[in-house]
Amino acid sequence: MLSDKLEKALNLQIKKELGNSYLYFGMSLYFRDMNLNGFGKWMHVQADEERGHACKLIDYVIERAGKVQLMEIDAPPRQWKSPLAACEAAYEAECDNSKQIDKLMDLALKENDHATSVMLQWFVSEQVEEEAQTMELVEHVKLTKDAPGPLLMLDHHLGARGEK
Ligand code: FE
Ligand code: CA
Repeated sequence: MLSDKLEKALNLQIKKELGNSYLYFGMSLYFRDMNLNGFGKWMHVQADEERGHACKLIDYVIERAGKVQLMEIDAPPRQWKSPLAACEAAYEAECDNSKQIDKLMDLALKENDHATSVMLQWFVSEQVEEEAQTMELVEHVKLTKDAPGPLLMLDHHLGARGEK
């Protein structure tokens, strides 16, 4: 059985993952507005992945006889200053999420809830990938130096995500 504290913290993490999914959807729409459909696709795949993270937590809370509470999620921005700004916002969101997962792990350890800490280890590793991936995206956008040719090449490359 989950402690009340842990149940609450896991519910907040579910909200966070769904909020990140919503954020990536906002980014996807922003890129599609600009006809950067490869970026749009990449962000859409990421939005689906974030929803998957929420589902993983939902299944876990139910397995542990906890109660899932869905919360209100604010609308994400619909516009960013530039493709780079949107990608930087994605990287920041991932760093912020990593911090929240670390805190959740601290709580699981403090409460001696080993099952939760084992489950959370997957998220800890996933965040290493998420930060690296969004950081790479930021660096690649920087390399284009806003030149249309390189930006379109990157767009084409990103559009292949999820098709392998
Ligand atoms: Fe996530
Ligand atoms: Ca991932």
